[in-house]
Amino acid sequence: MTAPHIIQVALPVPLPQLFDYSVPSGSVAAIAPGTRVLVPFGRRKMVGVVVRNAKHSEVPPERLLAVIEVLDGAEPLLDSSLLELLHWCWMYYKHAPGEVVASALPPALRKARGVIPKAPVQYRLTADGQQRLRLPPGRAPVQYAMLEVLADAPASAGRLRGVGSQWRKTLSSLQDQGWVKVEEAPAEEPRFSAGPSLVPDQQKAVEAISASLQGFSCHLLDGITGSGKTEVYMSLLEKVISSGRQALVLVPEIGLTPQLLRRFRKRLGLEPAVIHSGLGAGSRLESWAAARAGRAALVVGTRSALFTPMPGLGLIILDEEHDASFKQQDGFRYSARDIAVKRAAELDIPILLGSATPSLESLHNAAKGRYSWHRLRERATRAPMPAWRVLDMRQQSTANGLSLQALEAIGETLQRGEQVMVFLNRRGYAPVLMCHQCGWSGTCQRCDAHLTWHRSASRLVCHHCASQRPAPRMCPDCRADALAGAGEGTQQLEEALARRFDDVPILRFDRDKTSRTGVMDEQLERVRAGGPCLLVGTQMLAKGHHFPEVTLVVIVNIDQALYSADFRALERMGQMIQQVAGRAGRMEKPGTVILQTLHPDHAALELLLRQGYEAYASWLLQERQMAGLPPAGYQALLRAEAHERSAAERFLGDAVGIFPAGETRIYGPMPALMERLGGRSRMYLVVQGASRTALHRQVDQWLPVLRKLPSARKVRWAVDIDPQNL
Ligand code: ADP
Ligand code: ZN
Ligand code: ZN
Repeated sequence: MTAPHIIQVALPVPLPQLFDYSVPSGSVAAIAPGTRVLVPFGRRKMVGVVVRNAKHSEVPPERLLAVIEVLDGAEPLLDSSLLELLHWCWMYYKHAPGEVVASALPPALRKARGVIPKAPVQYRLTADGQQRLRLPPGRAPVQYAMLEVLADAPASAGRLRGVGSQWRKTLSSLQDQGWVKVEEAPAEEPRFSAGPSLVPDQQKAVEAISASLQGFSCHLLDGITGSGKTEVYMSLLEKVISSGRQALVLVPEIGLTPQLLRRFRKRLGLEPAVIHSGLGAGSRLESWAAARAGRAALVVGTRSALFTPMPGLGLIILDEEHDASFKQQDGFRYSARDIAVKRAAELDIPILLGSATPSLESLHNAAKGRYSWHRLRERATRAPMPAWRVLDMRQQSTANGLSLQALEAIGETLQRGEQVMVFLNRRGYAPVLMCHQCGWSGTCQRCDAHLTWHRSASRLVCHHCASQRPAPRMCPDCRADALAGAGEGTQQLEEALARRFDDVPILRFDRDKTSRTGVMDEQLERVRAGGPCLLVGTQMLAKGHHFPEVTLVVIVNIDQALYSADFRALERMGQMIQQVAGRAGRMEKPGTVILQTLHPDHAALELLLRQGYEAYASWLLQERQMAGLPPAGYQALLRAEAHERSAAERFLGDAVGIFPAGETRIYGPMPALMERLGGRSRMYLVVQGASRTALHRQVDQWLPVLRKLPSARKVRWAVDIDPQNL
């Protein structure tokens, strides 16, 4: 008797290992890696993915369980290059293999019942069918009508449906008679249309990147908003797709706009396969299957689309590469940008990272010569960049957060029939509801945060854990009728502006307003229609959209970032200011950006406004270098949270005690920037060093010991490699 065959399976459980199962000998020869299987796990059945075959198992034969069912018959779901990439991911990010692999599957295929949808088919007339068509219709006119539909070219079921309500029966009798046969529909041929003739900088970038389509190379397309990065993408996509290969475009969560898809459709003459988490499971699976079968020439998606199998992949483009949404912040904490570069390297294909405000990581790589650096410094439409005006708020009287000068400028702009955008990174009515008698303020009981006052709904809402309660009418402490909002949110701005400028439409863009479907598009439509209007919004306004009629941008308050404890705050502030400003203006109507601040002569702000983002970023980079901070050094966090602060502290204290010796140092424990969140205390340790290899070696030695700490059982903990948030 031969020993049973053994497979090692990745199961979606938060454990750091693969699980062995036996394949009864005689049933199947071997189950290829990448195949889904149904296996017993505890009292449940679970869907897992075979990672490899093995001869032996550590598990004694009598305890080794057998596979229940092989779910993918003909060929494995994931190809070997993708499996290798996922393997690299769980080693690098130190995350449970099964959860990493599960994140690469469309949700529909994480269930045992999920099957890959079949390729679309078409129906074609056979030679006998052609013969039949030459005879008169006779007594079967409906059958004849269907043959006529097929006379010149094959047709899809959709077209045959028009023949009559019994079309299915008709079709199958035609097939039975051998007059019609079914075949896989060929992929639609893209029909490219010409784009604008490229300006010299665009031309140079396209030529340089086209020259290196044959192997791995990483390119940074560093181009101001409106410089024509998207046109560069499309020129390259045309080259890659017309050579018969596939392309993957990754965009930030908020960047996947109908506008972008329309541009791709129009210029490339094809239907992009779209993959993002907001999509229904069915359409997401369709896109995934089309990509995997090679039918989809272009896949456009957000972070998770990174793991889409694409056998003919020839180019990856990652737009707005600095955007924080490329880093997953919970569970499997990965950077889609970094993995995309890895995937391109493994597949030996080029990758293009684009941004108007590149991350310091990418600028660092470009400066070191690891990435080719392509700059676009002019707007493709030749529209000038806006002029800056810094308003010193120390000598200003304000109304609802806006200085009188800003209000004047808004009034003048609207008078000229132009549009104005007011940007404030705080939704709701006021950041806090406060008692002016005793100083009481609404704070969240589960987080270190003020509750934001949403006046129209008359509620106090925590923007961190979403808990909420009705807003009190009187002070809960001193019973005085002295409650008032302190500070401003988008709702308040909207109200105040509506009172003052009552003859123009005011459109608010924030999560509260645009969460209902259709509102976003409807409002954008009104902006695009032209005519004076006021846009009030959060971060959301800084991304994705272009508002050519907007000639004045007011940034209400940026001061938080200037003195934040997060070393990335200045980088993000610079990106935000630059991005907001870049949304506005076009050739005939140059724009102005007004920045309100209490610190008009802050060195960083001055540098950004006088010399631009590149100079600003290289100064920040120098600061990071001096401090040994990323990207000049490498970091990992050990995060822990518990109801009791002491439990988190004890675990992290123990963890420091067992940290292996080496050149990488460990700091902490310290409380997270917002310690209480959702009723839990959050603390962390920072592991930091100049060598990535050393850091990983030490962390890899540390983890197995860490898992055995008794204090680990009292907390929720996780490792965060290359963290983006503290
Ligand atoms: P980005 O992606 O850098 O913000 P886009 O590619 O969206 O820039 O281009 C901004 C605007 O300029 C678009 O309306 C685009 O059609 C136009 N544009 C881009 N390249 C050219 C060009 N070479 N000639 C004329 N117009 C262009
Ligand atoms: Zn009070
Ligand atoms: Zn809260």
